[in-house]
Amino acid sequence: MSAADVPVLDVRDITKVYGEGETAVHALRGVSLQVRRGDYVAIMGTSGSGKSTLMNILGCLDVPTSGRYLLDGTDVGALSEARLSVLRNRRLGFVFQSFNLIPRMSALANVELPMAYGGVPAGERRRRALAALELVGLGDRVRHEPNELSGGQQQRVAVARALVTAPALLLADEPTGNLDTRSTRDVLDILGRLNARGRTIVLITHEDEVAAHARRVVRLVDGRIVEDRRNAPAPALREAT
Ligand code: ADP
Ligand code: MG
Repeated sequence: MSAADVPVLDVRDITKVYGEGETAVHALRGVSLQVRRGDYVAIMGTSGSGKSTLMNILGCLDVPTSGRYLLDGTDVGALSEARLSVLRNRRLGFVFQSFNLIPRMSALANVELPMAYGGVPAGERRRRALAALELVGLGDRVRHEPNELSGGQQQRVAVARALVTAPALLLADEPTGNLDTRSTRDVLDILGRLNARGRTIVLITHEDEVAAHARRVVRLVDGRIVEDRRNAPAPALREAT
């Protein structure tokens, strides 16, 4: 298999059990999933179906109880905590429902942050952070702090921060969960454009309208995948107005 054929994400029969004995919660009951480079997958399910548990495992923030996970060809289960944090930093970009920006730090400084650990020279950090903020339409807001930005703008900063390291995989857990309709559309437009440029995206949502923007929809019920289908090709994306 050539490098280009290795799935970005290859999950093999993973389970996750929280607690033990009578109070044990079986959050994932044998999930297998492969995501190829350039795909855009929405993972759907009602509250409690295991979406965040799966996201945390995909993001190497938690480990499965059993099963294997290969990220970009690397067996995550075999890595030390130090190697894992390097993998997280270099290969993954995260977007959370609650934005998770650092308060009292400018948008620019927030976006530069993931590169601080990667040995990227200061000038290069600045250049790449500015380009990422430009890409999400915030070139004129780079000096603003999170509390000076709307929710939609904060989430766009978070998207810029997630992609500034050019990760193999962008993971987003309910990225539009706290946004109004207009900001939801803006963020989904940006994700769609990133995917059109080749970025691999896994997005978690419980909303059909959000999942409709992905190329593929995987549905979880009670810790199992019950559906895995391709969406019809997306309509041409609106150009930013
Ligand atoms: P979703 O994101 O789809 O709402 P979660 O992955 O958060 O679902 O949760 C799946 C199941 O696992 C739920 O029953 C939840 O209560 C349980 N769960 C999640 N995290 C923990 C935890 N840290 N300890 C115990 N149970 C948990
Ligand atoms: Mg959740």
